[in-house]
Amino acid sequence: MTVAPTLFRFEDSYAREVPGLSVPWTAAAAPAPELLVLNEELAVELGVDPAELREPPGVALLAGRAPEGVTAVAEAYAGHQFGVYSPRLGDGRALLLGEVIDVKGRRRDLHLKGSGRTPFSRGADGKAVVGPMLREYVIGEAMHGLGIPTTRALAVVATGERVIRERALPGAVLARVAASHLRVGTFQYAAASGDGDLLRALADYAIARHYPEAAGAPNRYLDLFRRVVQAQARLVARWMLAGFIHGVMNTDNTTISGESIDYGPCAFMDAFDPATVFSSIDGRGRYAYGNQPQILQWNLARLAEALLPLFDDNGQAAVEAATEVLNGFTAAYERHWAEGMAAKLGIAAPDRALAQDVLTLMRLQTVDFTRFFRALSAGTARTLFAEPGPFDAWAARREVLLPADRAAVAAAMDRANPVYIPRNHRVEEALAAATEGEMGPFRRLADVVSRPFEERPGLEDYAGPAPVSRTPYVTYCGT
Ligand code: AMP
Ligand code: MG
Repeated sequence: MTVAPTLFRFEDSYAREVPGLSVPWTAAAAPAPELLVLNEELAVELGVDPAELREPPGVALLAGRAPEGVTAVAEAYAGHQFGVYSPRLGDGRALLLGEVIDVKGRRRDLHLKGSGRTPFSRGADGKAVVGPMLREYVIGEAMHGLGIPTTRALAVVATGERVIRERALPGAVLARVAASHLRVGTFQYAAASGDGDLLRALADYAIARHYPEAAGAPNRYLDLFRRVVQAQARLVARWMLAGFIHGVMNTDNTTISGESIDYGPCAFMDAFDPATVFSSIDGRGRYAYGNQPQILQWNLARLAEALLPLFDDNGQAAVEAATEVLNGFTAAYERHWAEGMAAKLGIAAPDRALAQDVLTLMRLQTVDFTRFFRALSAGTARTLFAEPGPFDAWAARREVLLPADRAAVAAAMDRANPVYIPRNHRVEEALAAATEGEMGPFRRLADVVSRPFEERPGLEDYAGPAPVSRTPYVTYCGT
């Protein structure tokens, strides 16, 4: 089969400019690649013709076959997983195919997941299966539709191979697009190497790629850190406002760019409860919904530790400067959250008490988080409360804070509050069907959640949670 060198013009700035943090590697061959889903909108954004990607050479590329002259690399990184440090994680089942300059001039990584063993596989098989890769696809599209910074899937290709999990499952490769794959764990790895020049090269690379404005700051590395703190505070606020639970907020899954990454056992909450945990591997609830901002700040403290030698030659001064920046996380997070809640509630200015109080009511009366805000703009929120008295009292407080033009308020609220999120039972149903070879439900779900704010007739079944009689929803890690 011929390769298609014209599809993408790959660049390799990461491998060249930060040598020592990646290993050249080749993806495993897929015996019978079959394109399950292609993100045509994203393909166009990357400057390629979707029709060409659907041809056999395009599918082969999406399954991991690098064009002639292109060398994929496995990236090295470390990380704290559930609070425990691992000095060597890295791309154990993933490869960076290369960087593509998109039609808007942005440099974006094209990365493969499920492409076979690498020097970082640590005894695991390097593979991925159809269900979890499609989950990453649909969650990424939902996040994008919600306007939340995220990596996005370009395609999922079934490899034609059976992969052994709890049973034999169809193997798959996900092709993913990201602003970059620089993570907190990348900095931890560089710092632990003891090579100060490598750490500095990585930080300079991150500045050039994501925060070029930091280059002119008096302390460019501290400014880099400040910008990452700000980007991540904004990101986690957006998660909280959408009811999103990432599930594995390890430091290797926390980006420098401020994009959400690595959708494993993630899910959207139905009834509001800060203690919500879906992941089967998070027995203690470390990454519960309500803990996410605090965990993010903890991860950023690990980034600060890695960067300390660059902040100041004087260790004490470095720690003080880093602490001050890190302490700015809380205010930034609170501001984004309060502004976001004001938009969701339709009030002109943030009102923290009003926002907190309605969340408490929702928790006490097990009210669906997503549904509540749309019902609020429609004037039907009261019906969601079994005991409406406390809601009425709250609604009277809100009433006096609303701008005069009520139609405009409702319209603006409907631009902030989604009708459709990837409801857990819908995701499960779509992935189960896809695993059996039936892609219809998945395509429908991906379409529904990619336009989350616009109510469409016939999609009522996507707008609410599953009947409550079900057993608690559990998500499994994406391996
Ligand atoms: P993740 O949970 O996907 O963020 O992965 C955490 C670490 O485990 C990364 O270093 C992955 O490369 C590695 N990993 C996860 N699944 C596999 C697998 N099936 N084979 C090899 N490495 C894996
Ligand atoms: Mg990861």
